[in-house]
Amino acid sequence: MSEDCVFCKIIEGQIPSNKVYEDENVVAFLDANPVSKGHTLVVPKAHVDTVFDAESMEYMWKPIVKVANAIREAFDVEDMNINQNNGSLAGQEVDHLHFHLTPRYDGSEIDISYNRSEPENADEVAEQIRSKTA
Ligand code: AMP
Ligand code: ZN
Repeated sequence: MSEDCVFCKIIEGQIPSNKVYEDENVVAFLDANPVSKGHTLVVPKAHVDTVFDAESMEYMWKPIVKVANAIREAFDVEDMNINQNNGSLAGQEVDHLHFHLTPRYDGSEIDISYNRSEPENADEVAEQIRSKTA
C-alpha cells in the first residue's frame, strides 16, 4: 500500500469501484472515466509505479486475457486496445501500474497517432538495447 495512491485505496476497499475480477494478486475494475463501454483497468495488488518495477509480476498476463475475453463476450465486441502508460510523457496519470482494456465498437473511441520516421542507425540502436537484455 502506498499512501495517497488511489488504486491502493480501491484495493484496500477505502474507496469504491466497480470490480469485475479479483484473485490473489490482481484486481480489475471499470475505469471511472471510460473511453468506451466496458473500459476496464487490470491492476496488481502490490504497488509498483511502472512496468520498470514489474519484472516479477508475470501473474498479470492470465487475468488480462481472462478479463479481455470477458469483455469481448459480454458486449460481443471483437476489437480492443490493451495499453499501459509509464511516466507523464507517456500519459500516465495514476502512478500505480495498470493495463487499460478498451473495447472498440466503431473505431472512433481513441485517437492514436504515431509520428513515424525513417530509422536512423537501426543496427546501433538494436545493439544498444540488446546489450542491456543480456
Ligand atoms: P493513466 O492515464 O494510464 O494513468 O490512466 C489512469 C486511469 O485511471 C484513467 O483512465 C482514469 O479515468 C482512471 N481512474 C482514476 N481514478 C479512478 C478511480 N477512482 N476509479 C477508477 N478509475 C480511475
Ligand atoms: Zn498504489
